[in-house]
Amino acid sequence: MSREAACAAVFRFAPSPNGHLHLGHALSALVNADAARACGGKLLLRIEDIDPARCRPEFETAILEDLEWLGIDFERPVWRQSEHLDLHRERFEILERRGLVYPCFCSRATLNRAIAVREAQSGEEWPRDPDGAALYPGFCRDLTANETTARIGAGESHAWRLRVAQASASAGPLAWREHESAEPSSPWSNVAADPLAWGDVILLRRDAPSSYHLAVTVDDAAQDVTQVVRGNDLRAATSLHRLLQKLLALPEPSYHHHRLVLDEDGRKLSKSIASTSLRELRASGMTPLDIRRRVGLCA
Ligand code: GLU
Repeated sequence: MSREAACAAVFRFAPSPNGHLHLGHALSALVNADAARACGGKLLLRIEDIDPARCRPEFETAILEDLEWLGIDFERPVWRQSEHLDLHRERFEILERRGLVYPCFCSRATLNRAIAVREAQSGEEWPRDPDGAALYPGFCRDLTANETTARIGAGESHAWRLRVAQASASAGPLAWREHESAEPSSPWSNVAADPLAWGDVILLRRDAPSSYHLAVTVDDAAQDVTQVVRGNDLRAATSLHRLLQKLLALPEPSYHHHRLVLDEDGRKLSKSIASTSLRELRASGMTPLDIRRRVGLCA
């Protein structure tokens, strides 16, 4: 039996073109590429460029160059999220028709102020989501239809939030299949999803026509992804992705959340703390093999 016949797994690497790739991205891309190659599956590249303020075409070009330098090959054409916003909108409208979303007119500054006041009054920290952000206090959850129609009609800027309690109740208990490694044949266990931990998340941003959670869930299904292999920092978000899959009747991929590459201070690498980029490491003379070793993969 050929490798292709043996494995119909579809993997994806999904970077955002808002900066240069660093070692954390290299680990993720290599783990996906190695697993796809080992089982004769496919590797897709998805450019997650829904944030018009932060994404730039030159970063996309740099991502393609860096992956080529690392020796990572992927299926063509490349999927750009910004070219599939109509799909995200269509799925969002399913949730809207079911009454599972509502417009939210609160700006970040209003929310920060209101939460600071509550924390000062109670002397306790306002509850946080798994990423450490304050949970939405629900100010716009119960506005009347007349009020929201009037405010939208008047052009007031707004996001759309998921009614997570209602959505979760309608979906029932959920779990995802977490594999021990990126290999589809590796042992797995069911992990209980906890979407309520995220509160009423934003599904359509006020400054962008989609959101990470909606776009990633809809696009994984649209691209027939069967194996979602990504960093452990996104593990908690899988609870929401499972909820959206269930609500939208989308297929359920398998997951593996891999370890993160940490800097000398034990912090996760990120573009925002200007972690050394792959192109700087390349310019300093490192080879793709050095990168593999540096991220703890055997050559
Ligand atoms: N675009 C996300 C990032 O660059 C990854 C999304 C995912 O793998 O689900 O962190």
